[in-house]
Amino acid sequence: MRPLLLRSSLLEGIGLPHGFSTAAAGDGRSEAVRAAVARAGGWEGTLATARQLHGTQAHWPLPGEPPAEADALLAGPGLGVAIGTADCVPVLLADPGARLVAAVHAGWRGTIAGVVQAALAEILRAGATPDGLFAAIGPHIGRCCYEVDESLAARFRERFGAGVCEGQRLDLGRCNELLLREAGLTRIERVGGCSRCAVEATGEPRFFSYRREGERAGRLLSFVGLPAAAESELGPRGSGPGEGAARRPGRSVS
Ligand SMILES: [Zn+2]
Repeated sequence: MRPLLLRSSLLEGIGLPHGFSTAAAGDGRSEAVRAAVARAGGWEGTLATARQLHGTQAHWPLPGEPPAEADALLAGPGLGVAIGTADCVPVLLADPGARLVAAVHAGWRGTIAGVVQAALAEILRAGATPDGLFAAIGPHIGRCCYEVDESLAARFRERFGAGVCEGQRLDLGRCNELLLREAGLTRIERVGGCSRCAVEATGEPRFFSYRREGERAGRLLSFVGLPAAAESELGPRGSGPGEGAARRPGRSVS
């Protein structure tokens, strides 16, 4: 059977509901698909989503509000955060001790512009620490399939070092991993294969890919959430109930 989602063993290890959906789950822009993916990943509540713009806006959604324009969503306990991708890099962050999570959408524009740094700045400001944070980088277009023009490759080599490009083929996941390491994170996992070329045993594509399918590509959903209850089961630092939520800053920042 084709799996609906992939899991991070790091986030699994700290008992967090989360997941990176596959093409078998369907288009993540559908509400029914979002609900099914959330359930499959152990999340019973709502998932907040965003109108993604390939920018660096970080946002703390409120339950029930319409999707805001943002490429990083952050939350305390009780509200899951989800982003959609089709070749771009999804990054999930969680600090179980500080009771904070984030979902980040990083394409090449967002990676260069600093969306991961924006999300990290925001989650650290809210009380997370580099030592407390776990990060999972989900399925995205691999270096195998991601040829960019020479001027863009040069920009990435200049920023991230020669190792992120092989000729004009760019490893966008590696760039985002380097950004997480620069910020002092050490618990980082990369999950899943290349969104453009990975296939199931049946030969069907495992993921949605904008490069492969163009405008008709569905969206893979990546989400993480902290349950409002069961505080004591999560994290080594054992914050008190509601502490993370109480620290949660209001609304958007750029
Ligand atoms: Zn590939």
